[in-house]
Amino acid sequence: MIMSKVYDVCIVGGGASGLSAAVYIKQKNRNISVAVLERLSRVGKKLITTGNGRCNITNADEALRHYHGQNAFFPEYAIKKYSNIEIEQFFKSLGVALFCDETGRYYPASLQASSVVDALRFSCDSLGVDTFTECKVTDVLFGKDLHTLKTEKGEFRAKNIVFAAGLYSGGAKLGCDGFVLKLLKSKGEKCVSVTPAIVQIKTDTDIVRSLKGIKVNAVAVLKINGKLVRQETGEVLFCDYGLSGPAILQIAREIERQNGEKIISLDLMPHSSVEEIVSLLSSFKSNLSYRNLDEFLSGILNKRVGQAVIKSTGRKLTEKVADLTDSDIKRIAGIIKNFSFKAFSTTGFDNSQVTAGGLDTNGFDRYTMMSENHKNIYAIGEILDVDGDCGGYNLHFAFSSAFCAADSIIKEYIND
Ligand SMILES: Cc1cc2nc3c(=O)[nH]c(=O)nc-3n(C[C@H](O)[C@H](O)[C@H](O)COP(=O)(O)OP(=O)(O)OC[C@H]3O[C@@H](n4cnc5c(N)ncnc54)[C@H](O)[C@@H]3O)c2cc1C
Repeated sequence: MIMSKVYDVCIVGGGASGLSAAVYIKQKNRNISVAVLERLSRVGKKLITTGNGRCNITNADEALRHYHGQNAFFPEYAIKKYSNIEIEQFFKSLGVALFCDETGRYYPASLQASSVVDALRFSCDSLGVDTFTECKVTDVLFGKDLHTLKTEKGEFRAKNIVFAAGLYSGGAKLGCDGFVLKLLKSKGEKCVSVTPAIVQIKTDTDIVRSLKGIKVNAVAVLKINGKLVRQETGEVLFCDYGLSGPAILQIAREIERQNGEKIISLDLMPHSSVEEIVSLLSSFKSNLSYRNLDEFLSGILNKRVGQAVIKSTGRKLTEKVADLTDSDIKRIAGIIKNFSFKAFSTTGFDNSQVTAGGLDTNGFDRYTMMSENHKNIYAIGEILDVDGDCGGYNLHFAFSSAFCAADSIIKEYIND
């Protein structure tokens, strides 16, 4: 079946970027006809899961260093043109007030991601966006003035197509199977290899498994072949498969992008130097020599973590503090500052919050998000080779790239 209506804009994907692009276009020009084609039974399924159901929309610190991809400067124009201030105004226009927490992260005041999805959904309806769900796009044919999308619900023709189909993060249940990336690759767009980012890390499990469920505040460092790749301060959670927690998610990006020996080390006492810890432990030894080693570190570290540190020196927990030599104390202090694990892989796309890699941004205009190869074909959000840090950066790029593409489309209709 071929839809009789020819749309000005067909948006592939009813997620964060697709819905916001649709609403923005209609807010600026009601006469532009817009269709959103979404493969799942509802729009915004991933958006509703974001920020642990609270939706961390943007961040007060919007510096470019929070973004990654082969073309480092690509997101700069979009994230600066549409800063957190513009994104806050946009959501205010939809009836959603944002607030900024003490770490600079913006959330809806309701603290419910569902209020963001509802606001976008209701605005699409009231502004006259045609939304088609259970409408997977299966092919695209690029024409001179009109492009055709083949879908499960028939063929759609449009002057402009915006690909907003996301990538693999969150997995197929959230609509993300990378099909559209492969489709565009088959049509000549270049792609950068994809790997999971903002994701847990699988490590050797001898120690972490015994500490399962314990959280510590640490500086987490990722080294690959001895070279420091990324360092983050924050909470680290020990799991049966490896390490999780905000600091770990943040350093995970390079785990599957680079070859070589990967070591994660945790500084369990970031505010003290090795020398200070040695001096502290030496004073403990003088005062607490009668104790067993299982209690030696319980005043400075989580008790079980302290015991794991002692065990890594080869000492038994039943031995006495008095038995420790000066070199034992130096080793313990060294391990506290450098509690290390071999890292093997991530826990995969289904558990990741974003995909690193995607459509090569060298093939897209950074001001408009239009393809350099196909006129009036746009790509926005996660499908592009742009991934941000944890903290609202990925949604920020989804919205800001959507508004850039929308501006370019709106310009075409300025005299209509
Ligand atoms: C658990 C989780 C928590 C997150 N939390 C945050 C957070 O708090 N802050 C933050 O900034 N980022 C967060 N992210 C990342 C953020 O959700 C994504 O970066 C963002 O949703 C990307 O927007 P998008 O529009 O590009 O893709 P998506 O939101 O994934 O939307 C793509 C849409 O396209 C549809 N689609 C795919 N293929 C087709 C097809 N062939 N035909 C039709 N439709 C198709 C999909 O079903 C989907 O609805 C989180 C991600 C996850 C998984």
